[in-house]
Amino acid sequence: MVLDLRDLLLSPGDSVPFDYAPDLSELLSESIPEIIGEPRAVGSVRNSAGLLTLTADVSAVARGVCARCLGEFDMPLDRRISVTLVREEDAEREDIDKYVISGDCVDVDGIVTTEFILNADQAVLCREDCKGLCEICGADLNDGPCGCVRGTDPGRAKLRQLLDGYVL
Ligand SMILES: [Zn+2]
Ligand SMILES: [Zn+2]
Repeated sequence: MVLDLRDLLLSPGDSVPFDYAPDLSELLSESIPEIIGEPRAVGSVRNSAGLLTLTADVSAVARGVCARCLGEFDMPLDRRISVTLVREEDAEREDIDKYVISGDCVDVDGIVTTEFILNADQAVLCREDCKGLCEICGADLNDGPCGCVRGTDPGRAKLRQLLDGYVL
């Protein structure tokens, strides 16, 4: 979605609203295989005394695959984006955290998608304290202990000894 800012650039104090369905397909990966439903981006570009600010509330729900237990879950992806826009002729070298716009138009979709991906969570977890799967029998440890005695194979026991020496 491209917004024409010609009128806004001439009227400090004004804002131009937008409300559209952003394309978040660039987010898709093995851990986020699907966007569920239609994402929505609601926001505006405001001209405050010549300074252009784009804010947007983006909401979407994705299907996530937990990095620990491999379970699928609905993952809400709600994010507020707020960035400063600078016109090409006003841009300086150090404007690295600002978006430079050329001409009178701004590519809202490009900015929203970039910000969304830049701030995507590193680890996809069904919940913060997910216990994951048993490394021996593969049981989901969130459902309770599986009864396996873990950490007893010779290599691991040796490693544990070494680590204990350091930790204790
Ligand atoms: Zn999990
Ligand atoms: Zn087990």
